[in-house]
Amino acid sequence: MPYKWPADTDYALWELDVLDRACPACGRMMHICDHRYRRLHTLEGPVQLVCKLNHCPDRDCPGHAKTKSPEQELTIAPPSWAIGWDVFCWIGHRRCSRHISIPYIQSELWDAHAIQLSDDAIAKYIQRYQAMLAARQQDPAALRQHYESVGEIILSIDGLQPEKGHETLYVVRELTQKRVWFAEALISATADEVQRLVAQAREWAISLGKTVGLWISDKQDAFVTAIAVEFPGVPHRYCDNHFLRDVAKPVLEADSHAKVQMRRKVRGLRKIEQAVLKQQGAEASTSVTEDHAEATVTVFVGPANSPAPEADSAGAVVLDYCAAVRGILNDDQGGPLHPPGLRMAEGLQEVRESIQRNLDAQKGGSQRSNSAAWPGALTGDWSTSKLSENQSGSTSRTSRR
Ligand SMILES: [Zn+2]
Repeated sequence: MPYKWPADTDYALWELDVLDRACPACGRMMHICDHRYRRLHTLEGPVQLVCKLNHCPDRDCPGHAKTKSPEQELTIAPPSWAIGWDVFCWIGHRRCSRHISIPYIQSELWDAHAIQLSDDAIAKYIQRYQAMLAARQQDPAALRQHYESVGEIILSIDGLQPEKGHETLYVVRELTQKRVWFAEALISATADEVQRLVAQAREWAISLGKTVGLWISDKQDAFVTAIAVEFPGVPHRYCDNHFLRDVAKPVLEADSHAKVQMRRKVRGLRKIEQAVLKQQGAEASTSVTEDHAEATVTVFVGPANSPAPEADSAGAVVLDYCAAVRGILNDDQGGPLHPPGLRMAEGLQEVRESIQRNLDAQKGGSQRSNSAAWPGALTGDWSTSKLSENQSGSTSRTSRR
């Protein structure tokens, strides 16, 4: 779809001439026969290209029917693109190198360069960028140059299945230079197909003139046999990530169980938040009466005559604590060396200590009954004995396996 330019766009005018004006057929000096106008985005702003088209003045020359475009045009943008190479590289680099999402690239393009592109246009440019990048990455001359100073190389192979039942993407990587050599999607990875990939890796290594010092994989049967055939005598080791993950399976199971236990103990966040919000709402309305205060229930409510701003800030702190605890409970990050349940226990412990510090400060400093009440409420909800039992319980459970 043609790009729609806003009516008030201010274009820089770039006039392009044909540099070599000798007719390719007869060598005669060519004449300008037409102009082609193009508009495109560059990082410096919108540009209107005026391309002067040439042809041979001799009607009988084959160079007469064919026009020649200025040589520079292609160095600014490929035909019919709405963006120049500079914007194209800007988009591609953000997507492929920094893994920024398309909507974010879209808004950044707009904010930083006032370039408006639809998300599907950006997706299409990214696709082209990937195709060019893949072609470039596998360019034998570039690769040879890249591996010039490398002695031995280390290869790895792994299959990634994005979704169950879909084809698996097999990737061969070289680890000393951290480069993906090639990848292929296989619907059913038979031993023969896997061996074909390993053989391809051998061809690459030979064409680079490099010795393969080591293979690394998760040691699926197909990998083991194929590598033994294609690379006799080359050691083949477990990938330590896979190895660790397999070894850690029972640990992670126990960890996940511990998480369930902790979540079961640390409850009532919403109730606390609702009470605070209700209290803040009540204090916002000017007619605070004892009735209202009592309606907000339990421990949070200080004396009805306490100054509203202070109660407000105490309430905000309670809400912040609730948000922090909720974040800790929902965090699923962490691998086998730092399992999520341990992270959760550590996070909750930090919150406990923080609340305890507040309580100690209250005891030492000025006494304000209303603000002293809430940390007690929060800690009382979950920090009582049960949690610490559970925490140490979970830790010892994991280590027992
Ligand atoms: Zn001619």
